[in-house]
Amino acid sequence: MWDRYRVRPGSRVRLREWDPDDTGGFQGTRVEVETAFAKLNHRLEALQELLYAESKHKMLVVLQAMDCGGKDSVIRRVFQGVNPQGVSVMSFKAPTPRELSHDYLWRVHAHAPGRGQIVIFNRSHYEDVLIVRVHKLVPRSVWERRYRHIVEFERMLADEGTTILKFYLNISKAEQKKQLEDRLNDPTKKWKFRIEDLEERRLWPQYMTAYEDALSRTSTDFAPWYIIPSNHRWYRNWAIARILVEALESLNMQYPQPSNDLSAVRIK
Ligand code: AMP
Ligand code: MG
Repeated sequence: MWDRYRVRPGSRVRLREWDPDDTGGFQGTRVEVETAFAKLNHRLEALQELLYAESKHKMLVVLQAMDCGGKDSVIRRVFQGVNPQGVSVMSFKAPTPRELSHDYLWRVHAHAPGRGQIVIFNRSHYEDVLIVRVHKLVPRSVWERRYRHIVEFERMLADEGTTILKFYLNISKAEQKKQLEDRLNDPTKKWKFRIEDLEERRLWPQYMTAYEDALSRTSTDFAPWYIIPSNHRWYRNWAIARILVEALESLNMQYPQPSNDLSAVRIK
C-alpha cells in the first residue's frame, strides 16, 4: 500500500514538516497526472459497483480541512461518475439543540455506512476536538478524553466491517488567502463566503495545534489519517483517488454468485 501520506500510529505530527505544495508522489507532468486520475476515477467507479453488488463491506471516508481546503471539490471530482445509489455524503454543521442534547457521537453513528455503502463525511466527529476545542465550547477536561472515545468508536466500526480512511486536506495559510479572495471576487462563489471564516482564519495557529493533536492521537491501523498536500488540486485528487482505489482493491471483493443455477436459463 502507498503510505507516503499516512500518519504512522503513535507518531507525533508537526504540520510544518508536511509540505502542502508537494507533488513529488507523481513523477510526471500535470497533463499526465490528469490522465492517470481519469483512470483511477474509472477504477473507483468499478470498485464501488462491486462493493455495492457484494454488499459485504462498508466504507467510511472522513474529510477534514480548514476553510477553502477543498472538501467540496474532492467530493465532486474524486467521486464523479460513481453510482449515487451506493454513495452518500453527510455534511456536519454546527449541532442542532437536539443533537447537542445527546453525546457528540450520536449524530455521527447514525450516518455510518451500511453494507455495500460508501459514506463520505464532509466534516465529522473531529469537529468535536477541533472547532469545539479552539473556541472553548467545552472545557479541556471534556475534549481531552474525546480522543480516546473516538479511537474506540472507530475501532468498533472497523471491527464490524468498516474500512475507514481519513483525509486531512493540507493547505497553506497563503493558499487559503488566495481561495478566500477568489470567493469574494467570483459571483458564482461569493455565496460560500462567510464573514465568520475570517475569524477562523485568525485562529489558524490554534487550529494547527488542534489538528496536530487529532492527527497524532487518532491515526490507527484500522482508521489511518492521511495528510494530503492540497495546494494543487490536480495532485490532491490523484493522491486521494489512488488511496481509495488501493484500499478497495485490498478487500478482494467478488461479484456474488446467483443463488440458482442459471446455465439452463433462456430468455424468450
Ligand atoms: P461548512 O462546512 O463551511 O458548511 O461549515 C459548517 C460549520 O459547522 C463549520 O464552521 C464547522 O466548524 C461547524 N461545525 C461542524 N461540526 C461542529 C460541531 N460539532 N460543533 C461546532 N461546530 C461545528
Ligand atoms: Mg465554510
